[in-house]
Amino acid sequence: MKNIAVLGAGTMGNGIAHVFAQNGFQVNLIDISQSSLDKGLATIAKNLDRMIQKEHISENDKMQTLNNIKTSTELKNGVLNVDLVVEAATENTDLKLKLFQQLDAACDENTILATNTSSISITRIAAATKRPDKVIGMHFMNPVPIMKLIEIIRGYSTSDATTKAVMELSAVLGKTPTEVNDYPGFVANRILMPMLNESIETLYNGVAGVVEIDTVMKLGMAHPMGPLQLADFIGLDVCLSILNVMYGGFKNPKYAPCPLLVNMVMAGKLGVKSGEGFYDYSESRKAEKVSPQFS
Ligand code: NAD
Repeated sequence: MKNIAVLGAGTMGNGIAHVFAQNGFQVNLIDISQSSLDKGLATIAKNLDRMIQKEHISENDKMQTLNNIKTSTELKNGVLNVDLVVEAATENTDLKLKLFQQLDAACDENTILATNTSSISITRIAAATKRPDKVIGMHFMNPVPIMKLIEIIRGYSTSDATTKAVMELSAVLGKTPTEVNDYPGFVANRILMPMLNESIETLYNGVAGVVEIDTVMKLGMAHPMGPLQLADFIGLDVCLSILNVMYGGFKNPKYAPCPLLVNMVMAGKLGVKSGEGFYDYSESRKAEKVSPQFS
């Protein structure tokens, strides 16, 4: 594999493009929004600068990485002659089904279609195409350039050949691919999201404040980041979508999203990406480090 298309240039898409480009792949980064593409490229450049400061890469590596990335707002042109598409668009089932129909029609018959979905059924996405054997989940972790895991999800019809190709490719990226089966939330989010939801529920019930909840989990459980800060970092809209997929998939109330999470998403408080979630990330507050919204 040499040529990769990454669909969606948001939190995850720009990180996925970064990692492929840094490992010598030619990457077409595609998004419907030009401003997302601009923001995505700026984030990649900023993250590469950070790696230069830490002396992990050279200035020349940065230039080569950026030269390996082309951007486009046109899906059809962007996926021509690619070996693999990694879809990292918004976590919405209808959108993903539509995108996979379009990808199936536009891509070469041998192209593998991977999705970075956090929770949506790979089997269902694959069924929207005429190549379900070549559809697979490639669930990168956030932040992609740093996190080693890729959860590889086999749909009902995913072939051994597709799985082998994607496992090998993930290793070439310096990641640790781990194969799991296709059930709502897979493994990572089936375990993580109930914990984040319970932290929000703990805040909602007035048991403790944001800082206290995060401190208990950081210092008490040796988590590198508190659960509320992590939810902000993932995106509260993404957390809500994942919980809704698990709630719908298992019909079990233990996955029902906390009403506070639902309200915050409706109010547009999505965490880091919108500038406010459980903490305030606005420019004026960044200088004094992030501060909790609820205390
Ligand atoms: P995001 O909201 O940051 O970015 C989504 C991007 O998709 C936006 O730039 C948007 O313009 C673009 N988009 C929307 N419709 C599109 C279309 N039709 N064609 C092309 N681009 C389109 O979301 P994100 O957090 O990067 O999540 C992307 C995917 O990765 C989701 O499936 C999510 O569940 C998954 N994921 C997220 C995380 C996380 O921590 N945020 C971790 C692992 C997996």
